Amino acid sequence: MSTFYLILGVILLLSSIALIVLLGDLPNYRGTILHKLNQLLVDRVAHKITLQFTTLDKRFFNGYLSSDESLRRLGWIAGWIIPVFYLAVFSRCLAFFFQYTYPQILKLSSEVNWTLRYWIFILPPILLNYGSFFLAVLSDPGYMLESIDKEHVNISKIQSEFPYDDLIFFKVDCSTCKFVKPARSKHCSNCDKCVLMFDHHCIWLNNDVAYYTYRWFLLFLFSTCFIFLYGGYLSYYSLKLEIQISKDIPKTITAAPLLLKYWRLIKNTTFANEISGILLLLCMFLFPAVSFFLGETLWSVYLGVTTNETAKWDYINLLVQNEMLYEFIPRNGDANVFLILNTRLPNGTIQFIKLEDRKPFNNDTGGHLRRIKNWDDMNNVYDMGFWKNLHQRLFPKKLF
Ligand SMILES: [Zn+2]
Ligand SMILES: [Zn+2]
Repeated sequence: MSTFYLILGVILLLSSIALIVLLGDLPNYRGTILHKLNQLLVDRVAHKITLQFTTLDKRFFNGYLSSDESLRRLGWIAGWIIPVFYLAVFSRCLAFFFQYTYPQILKLSSEVNWTLRYWIFILPPILLNYGSFFLAVLSDPGYMLESIDKEHVNISKIQSEFPYDDLIFFKVDCSTCKFVKPARSKHCSNCDKCVLMFDHHCIWLNNDVAYYTYRWFLLFLFSTCFIFLYGGYLSYYSLKLEIQISKDIPKTITAAPLLLKYWRLIKNTTFANEISGILLLLCMFLFPAVSFFLGETLWSVYLGVTTNETAKWDYINLLVQNEMLYEFIPRNGDANVFLILNTRLPNGTIQFIKLEDRKPFNNDTGGHLRRIKNWDDMNNVYDMGFWKNLHQRLFPKKLF
């Protein structure tokens, strides 16, 4: 097998695995083929490997490698594998581009001022990509525990930025951190910390996408999309110039039909063309994947939800569809309470449990009940409209 097919195969395999691992575990993809493949890969394959590992460890190292301390260290190393691997592959591809594809364009194209293009469309997106990547990986996403110890932290200020809606967020303590969790925050099981406005734990970045890292994550996605789009175009452009202008390309290639012409050019001519071909294919495969991810992220900004909240809203939606969600409006002016229809007794009375803690609800204050029939009966207090939602993510307030 030639090196070309080997590289292509490895790229396709790794990109597919990355896509399955990254997207498959997100709540939006529950029940889809991506989620099933994720379960297969992460749960079954990883589980089998772990079992084998523990058995061998017991036999040869007396269980030292699978002790809690070693596993914690192993987990730490494993977390960094993907970001480091991404950085290495991305940088190597860029180096290839500047070594082979870009000089080819400079040599053959007489079209425009390529120095100007370099300073506008090539260098700034690359710098932005590296910058946002490092900031997204290394920034504190909004860890509560470390900040809460500081004396100047004002919990009421945090809670006024993130009020409880008593529908998907309630004033409850984190069972691990032992303090009141602000609305929209979540205890990340990977980081073992409560994080402000938690979206998801990103294994690509080995960090949480949350209140203070959302901006870097969005910038990173934007610049990555642009690089794949423009880089793909430039790789194609360099191949096109070869076919149209270069005198060294044999007639059997230039006279072939469209796709075959490019395929033969990539496969049978110079190493530079082979590199441009690989870069083009890589961009063609990765651009749709990353832009889809960016689209999803912007869509959740538009809806005013985080990835973490999507599952909560799905549950609320399920209750509404099954005609089980009610709102109790007390007569004495207390806050409204959301209830779940629990049972209908034979004598016709209906029992409710509170949405907040699933405890039985007793109506001793008086008031009236209304069934939530659709989305219009509820209010997503966290949705302030697309631009304000985006502003909140791009310019988080200093709360710590
Ligand atoms: Zn995390
Ligand atoms: Zn916590």
